[in-house]
Parts: sequence; structure tokens; C-alpha cells
Amino acid sequence: MEQFIVSARKYRPLTFANVVGQSSIAQTLRNAIERRQLAHAYLFCGPRGVGKTTCARIFAKTINCFNPDANGDACGECESCKAFAENRSYNIHELDAASNNSVEDIRNLIDQVRVPPQVGKYSVYIIDEVHMLSAAAFNAFLKTLEEPPTHAVFILATTEKHKIIPTILSRCQIYDFNRISIEDAVAYIEKIAKNENINYESEALHVIAQKADGSMRDALSIFDQVVSFCGTNVTYAKVIENLNILDYEYYFRLTKAFVEGDYCTALVIFDEILSKGFESQYFVRGLNSHFRDLLVCKDTQTVSLLEVGATIAESYKKQAEICSVAFLFTALDIINACDAGYKTSSNQRLHIELALCKLSNITALRREEQTAKTVDNTEKNRNEIIVRQPVKQESRDKIEEEVKNNIQAEEIKEKTTVAARPETVSIKGFSNLAESINIETKEVKSEENNTVQMNEDFTEEQLLTAWKNYAAIFAQKQPRFASAMVATKPVCEAGNVIVFNVQQIVQKKALEEKGIAKNICLYLQKELKNTTVKLDVRVDQNGDKVDTPKLYTDSDKEKHMHEKNPELANFQAAFELYDGK
Ligand SMILES: [Zn+2]
Repeated sequence: MEQFIVSARKYRPLTFANVVGQSSIAQTLRNAIERRQLAHAYLFCGPRGVGKTTCARIFAKTINCFNPDANGDACGECESCKAFAENRSYNIHELDAASNNSVEDIRNLIDQVRVPPQVGKYSVYIIDEVHMLSAAAFNAFLKTLEEPPTHAVFILATTEKHKIIPTILSRCQIYDFNRISIEDAVAYIEKIAKNENINYESEALHVIAQKADGSMRDALSIFDQVVSFCGTNVTYAKVIENLNILDYEYYFRLTKAFVEGDYCTALVIFDEILSKGFESQYFVRGLNSHFRDLLVCKDTQTVSLLEVGATIAESYKKQAEICSVAFLFTALDIINACDAGYKTSSNQRLHIELALCKLSNITALRREEQTAKTVDNTEKNRNEIIVRQPVKQESRDKIEEEVKNNIQAEEIKEKTTVAARPETVSIKGFSNLAESINIETKEVKSEENNTVQMNEDFTEEQLLTAWKNYAAIFAQKQPRFASAMVATKPVCEAGNVIVFNVQQIVQKKALEEKGIAKNICLYLQKELKNTTVKLDVRVDQNGDKVDTPKLYTDSDKEKHMHEKNPELANFQAAFELYDGK
């Protein structure tokens, strides 16, 4: 049986040209060799598996080569190169500081350093994990490191540069190795796969590279593991199964559900994920990076930060189109908070499920906010006008009617464009409105004494129709008052006083203070063709008699919450909660 050699060893680069992902370091070392400007000590820092030891070995081989080529690379044919290739060279000494960290070990090393090499020019000492040396060992090493014999070159390697004492740092040339990018890792694995006659799906290799998290050695070990599971056909499906990675598909389906406000689907998908044995925090973090990936797709400047295969990148771009940036920011906030609070939550499943519900509610909330903003703006205008014009009652009424008509015209205008760019539109609407109000007031001033008086009779049915029409017009802008109007039947007293019974004193106050009562009155006057019509808002005698709107019982509180948020009823129904009836 042929001996299996792991890919990380079998495909370890032998020249600087083949080093993956560290081209600038490789080039610098090559230049130094070419110019014969060798330092006595180098410090290679960087995460594990990114090529520190590989570069150190290539360096040792190259400086000892008898016939380096024009590019400054080792020839691979001379006696020294052959000795390196067969792992029998006496010019290279590797010491693992993790297991040889005492003063005694360093003294042995120093004794060794004094002996010049038999073949070749240099003895290269590679000290791996140098941060593991004891303080005493570091100090014992200092003198040799500062003034080594001319034939000695030290290459210290570490994953934790901050643990190296400054006196050592100042005696070394320092090289910082990068994490291997997903692209580089994928390209290298592709090369190996082709060499080994293994068929692969590009997505599969991307998943492997992502899992390796910047380490080429890890990427190759994972690749070996996957190949022994899949055989010669490495597919995306098999890779995610073997590595127990959550399929992107789940995140895409979830995000679609969030955008559509479909929390039921979201909860079902989450259950499916848990039933497959995935850890829930792993899922939360995955969802977090999914939102991040969608966000980087929103701009051409950041789209290159997306590190996935071409097919999945297409899916990301497609989904990014249906998610607004504001949606993604809110989603990231929610999921980050969920991740942060996960450990301390007493019911972790519920904790995540609530976050999923919140995510499903973003779209609805944003819609409400926009509506509220537009209402605020129009009401602000309305109040401004009332203050600005201390004229006679009749003409003031007339002005307000005109203003209201304008507002309605604006509302229609806004409705048609609000979906596209809501904020700009409402600001524009604001200034347009202010302008038109100014024009209107001027006109009204000139015909101040010409107010038309109307005094037609009306039936109860006409009143009811006008009443309902007003409620319908404002159903979206002022849902609370509209629903109060629909719930109450107006009563006509003394021929022209319309009584509006409300449940609570706060409602009466709000109706009067926000000028809504006035608006209703104006509307009724116009519809019923009777300018003597007055609106009287009364607190219902059968309802809440208390002056202050204190909520004593649970059902009061529930009613209050329903008024504040009409969506609550839907939630209650969906979760089959007690609905107070
Ligand atoms: Zn050579």
C-alpha cells in the first residue's frame, strides 16, 4: 500500500515563488539574499499555518545553495539543495521552544552555534514558538543573538509577538505574516485537487477555506479529511455534511421570512436547524455574518469583501436587493444583542426565538415609523398656521379648511411616492405645504369678508356617511382616532351639535390639543353643507369616568396596550394567547 502523505507536507512550497499569500515577505527575503544583506536574526510573526516555518526553511535552503538561479531561488540540484530535499542537511537546525524552553536548552544551542558548518556557508537555527522560552532562557540567549558567529543565522517564529521581550525584538528583523485570504487558499487547493485528479465544486472549496480561518495548513488538513469522506468528487453538499456546517440556504430562507414579516416560517426553520444538531449560538453567529455579507453587497465599494464562491455570491446580491440598508442595520443590532445576551439567558432557545420575531417585525415597524413621521409633519404645519393667524373665527375656519384640503392633496401626492424614498419626500412635502399655505392665507385675507355661510339640513344617515368617510381617510395616518371614530356612533344634538363620545379623558385631550377635533368638525361642515355644525368631544359616561387615565385592572392594561399597538391582536391570535374575551 502506498504511503499517504498529508497534503500540507506533500505540497509544502519549496521555493519563494510558490509560497502562498505572503508574496511581499517572500520578495523581501529574496532581495536580501540577492544583495547579500543578511541579518543575523529574523523574527517571523503571524497566525499558525500561514507559512512561517516554510519560509524559514526556504530561506535556509536558498542561502546555502551553490548555484542560485537568476531570480535568487535555490537551484534544487546542487549537493546542499539535495541534502535539504532529503531532510539530511546539517545546515538547518530546528528547535521547538514549546518543549525546550529552559536555560539548559538554550545553553546547548549556544554551544552548537559555535561550530561552523561542514558543507555550505550558513547554519540556520529555526526556533519555533519562541515566546514559550522562560525569562531566564531569553536572557541567556541575548548575548548570542546580538553577536553570533558569522556563519549563524537565527530565525525565530512566533504566533504571539506581544509576548516577546523588547530586548529580543530590537535585535531582530521583524516580518509580519498575513492570514491567508480565502481566495489564495481556494486557488491553492484547486491546484492540489487538479494534481490529484479530484473533481470539486468551487463552493465546496470556499467552505473549506472559510472553515480554515486564514490558516493554509488547516485548509489542507480539512481538504484531506473531506477527500477521505467524499472520494474523488468533492461537492458542496458533502462538504457541509462532513464538516457539520450550516448550509447558506437556511440563512437565505430566514432572511426572506424576516423581510416578509413571516415569523412563523422563521421559527420553523430555526427548529429544523436545531433538530439537525447545530448549536444555537453557532447559528446566531452565522446569521450575524449573513447580515454582514448582505450589507457588503449593498455597495460596489464593499462587494469585494464578500468571501464566497460565485454561485453563492449571486444569491447574496439577489437577496441584498430586497433588503434595505436600514433593515440590515436594525437586523445586525438585534442579532448582536441576541448573541451578547445568549450566555446569560435562562431560556436560550426562547431568547433566540424572540430575536427571530423581532427580526420579522422590522419591516412592519419601519412602515409605522414612516407613517408617524408624515403625520407629525402635517400636524406641525397645521398648528403653525393656527397660531400665525389670529383672525376672525369664520375666516380662520375657512383658512383651516383650505389647509386641510392642501394636506389631503399632499397626502395623495405622498402616497404615490412614499414607497420609493419616504424621508426626502416628506421633507419636500413639508416645504411645499408651507409655501401653499402662505399663498392660501394671502388669498383668504383679501376675501376676508366674503365667507360663505351654509345652513343646510342633513339626515342622520348623511352624518354617518361623512363620519365614516373621515375615519377612512385618516385610518392610516391616525389609526387610534380613526378606530375610535369607527367604534362610536355620532349623536346629533340641537340640530347642529355633533357629540363624539370617547372612552377616556386622554383621548379627548389629544383630539383637542392636536387639532384633530377641529379637523373633523371642518370636514363635517363641508360634507354636510352646514357651517353651523359643531363638534363636542365628550368622555363617555358609561365608560371611564375617572379624570386621570390610571390603569387599574389587567383588562384595562390590555385594552390600553391594544390601543397603543393594533398589531398586538395579530400576535395574540398567532401565538394563541389569551385575548381577554
Ligand atoms: Zn542548489
